[in-house]
Amino acid sequence: MRKVYTSSDLNLVQYARSVLEGHKIESVILREQLAGVVGGIAPLDAWTELWVHDAARIDEARQLIESAMKKTETQQQPWHCLGCGENIEAQFTQCWKCETERKY
Ligand SMILES: [Zn+2]
Repeated sequence: MRKVYTSSDLNLVQYARSVLEGHKIESVILREQLAGVVGGIAPLDAWTELWVHDAARIDEARQLIESAMKKTETQQQPWHCLGCGENIEAQFTQCWKCETERKY
């Protein structure tokens, strides 16, 4: 097994796993075991890791996750309507002014 992705955000790790599932790549989510407790205070958020069984598909898995994450980031950005040039908030997939669909 090899680690292909890690994040402190469990939702992102689960999203990455679903991307791999879509390509029939088996993976498992592991909660990082934190060795010892620093200064007697337990850390609030442990990092979560995504591991892939099939060593032959590690590179493929990493690329899939990378491009999926880039896509997610892009979709969270405000965008410019190609029809009228209006600035549209990220949550809309269509321009409220001229009803042009988001193209990117
Ligand atoms: Zn528009």
